[in-house]
Amino acid sequence: MPDTKFGDSMPKIRSLCVYCGSSGAVAQVYRGAASELGAGLAEAGIELVFGGGRVGLMGLVADAALAKGGRVVGVIPSRLRDAELAHPGVSELCVVDTMHERKARMAERADGFAILPGGIGTLDETFEILSWKQLGLHDKPIFLVDVEGYWTPLRLLLEGIVTSGFARPETRELLRIVPSVLELLEALVRGPGF
Ligand code: AMP
Repeated sequence: MPDTKFGDSMPKIRSLCVYCGSSGAVAQVYRGAASELGAGLAEAGIELVFGGGRVGLMGLVADAALAKGGRVVGVIPSRLRDAELAHPGVSELCVVDTMHERKARMAERADGFAILPGGIGTLDETFEILSWKQLGLHDKPIFLVDVEGYWTPLRLLLEGIVTSGFARPETRELLRIVPSVLELLEALVRGPGF
């Protein structure tokens, strides 16, 4: 948990932190969404902040952004970099000591967050950034990109948490759900509207 406030949400997102799977052994629809997001961010002039890996959807987002001349910032713990998992072509690679430091640094560097399909690491990042927002530690927009309904179980879980009384109804407002990368990009260009 960081002890600093991230500040108020910005009117326009210039730098977006993307959380997504490190696995590439997934359906083409998810791989395509990752490439579409990378290319779209570059075209919109929005910097990509991500976990710095060359693997899976993470690598695809970064590859596509770089291919279109976008700026890409990777934040990676030294242990993962040394395991040669770091993306070799990023514009800036921030090497940190721990996973906790990485999440704090990624959050500080971005004006907003987008969650693509992913696994345990993606869920960890998602819940941390949501809980920091719930506590008022930041007020940046968080977009859940529900590609082909991948996040339906998560949406049901969150709804159940609210209806059971474990979270306030306002919790629903912490997250903005968009059904596709295209609608995410439109929201980013128009402004987050939060
Ligand atoms: P997962 O969803 O379990 O595949 O984890 C992916 C998320 O955790 C990404 O958003 C990354 O920030 C982080 N992560 C997990 N594995 C790696 C890796 N090998 N290299 C860089 N980041 C990773």
